[in-house]
Amino acid sequence: MNEQLQALRQYFMSGATQSFAFRLAKLEALQQLVLDHEKELAKALHIDLKKTEEEAWASEIGFFLSELKYTIKHLKNWMQPTSVPTNLLNQPSSCYTVPEPLGVVCIIAPWNYPFQLLFTPLIGAIAAGNCAVLKPSEFAGATAAVMGKIIKQLFSENYVLYIEGEGAEVLPPLFENFRFDHIFYTGSTFVGKIIYKQAAEKLVPVTLELGGKSPAVLASDANIRVAARRIANAKFSNCGQICVAPDYVLVPTALKDSLIEELMIATKKFYGEDPENTDGYGKIINEKQWQRLVGYLQDGKVVYGGKSNLATLFIEPTILTDVALDSKIMQDEIFGPILPILTYNTNEEALEIIRRNPNPLAFYVFTSNNTTEQYWLNNVPSGGACVNNAIFHLTNHALPFGGRGFSGMGGYHGKLSFDTFSHIKSVMKTPTWIDPDFKYPPYTGKGWLLKKLIG
Ligand code: NAD
Repeated sequence: MNEQLQALRQYFMSGATQSFAFRLAKLEALQQLVLDHEKELAKALHIDLKKTEEEAWASEIGFFLSELKYTIKHLKNWMQPTSVPTNLLNQPSSCYTVPEPLGVVCIIAPWNYPFQLLFTPLIGAIAAGNCAVLKPSEFAGATAAVMGKIIKQLFSENYVLYIEGEGAEVLPPLFENFRFDHIFYTGSTFVGKIIYKQAAEKLVPVTLELGGKSPAVLASDANIRVAARRIANAKFSNCGQICVAPDYVLVPTALKDSLIEELMIATKKFYGEDPENTDGYGKIINEKQWQRLVGYLQDGKVVYGGKSNLATLFIEPTILTDVALDSKIMQDEIFGPILPILTYNTNEEALEIIRRNPNPLAFYVFTSNNTTEQYWLNNVPSGGACVNNAIFHLTNHALPFGGRGFSGMGGYHGKLSFDTFSHIKSVMKTPTWIDPDFKYPPYTGKGWLLKKLIG
């Protein structure tokens, strides 16, 4: 393995990956090959997570292609140096910044959106002129196999290296024996901490795209029907296995019953009376996750759903009430189709609950009032946020995506993906035809001039 990593380093050092023509050609070839494998990928995503063809396209393949198209369109422009003003002291120099590839980067993905969470960061890595090691999740094996086929067909192993296997076994020796120039990790906070520690040993910069408990708050003036539809969609798509799914809902006590009523109507409309046998409803990734989720059903009163079947890895869209704040479901990230509804009477009470898990990856507030909206946005620091919406903020290329604190660090999507995999180098160019003495020692007697020029 070490030899393969050294081969990546050498290929990067050769400069082959750096021209605009090379980057563009690779991105275009990737676009074509993914299009050629669209059906195969959709089939694999159905095997791994029971995603329908439409869902696989919207949330994985199409999501990736849209980001790729955007990058292809803007790449030339992003690669250009940017002139910046020169301060008085350094006149008549000229100054600019220029994005420089980082080198050999490592991209590690989880299983819930196994294709787009591996391939979307890859767009940034290629666009910025890097070589990459890709590590898919071992828990979405069918998708990992198709992705491996695409990568191996398209890229030489000294440009993009595809490594499969159990992360805990495969990755630590890699980090020990080789210094990556960046590690881009998407997955749990638990593993994120392990990776951060290992990266620190070699001062490797990291992007950590983690999870956490993303709250949804309804204000007393919220449009309950619309809020319920958007929350149910965001919570039960992909069986709630979404990093930015609303983890739990906080609703004023007086609105609790109407919200539950509307959530039930919306959920039935989306997934029917028998979601287990509905095409549009997914499945839990594996038995371990299923067991973990079924355990949470004890943590409250099931007012809707609650059925489960290990044989089909099915858990019904479920609404829980009477959930204690110190229960397991309110401490862990749920990452499944179980939605606790908590009530509050004052904003401070709701904030106190949210602050038990600070800096969520996403925060959702439903209100019709601008002052209320600002109150919540100002009081809940989060990776991203939506007002009267949920999860869709990550589909806009113009909005950077990432967490803060326990939900991660750094971000990507759109231009930020390119920037994440680039070093922004500052350059000053100074002419030689002028070389005044005041810039050199001794400085005695020149203080007044330096103060004027620097101050
Ligand atoms: P996972 O178990 O598939 O792990 C993610 C990756 O880490 C895998 O490739 C795995 O092989 C690797 N890994 C596991 N243990 C490792 C170790 N000790 N050292 C190095 N690598 C290791 O996925 P997961 O962690 O269960 O993913 C779910 C989590 O990911 C949730 O918390 C979710 O919120 C989060 N997530 C975040 C985002 C985001 O964009 N912020 C997106 C999706 C999922």
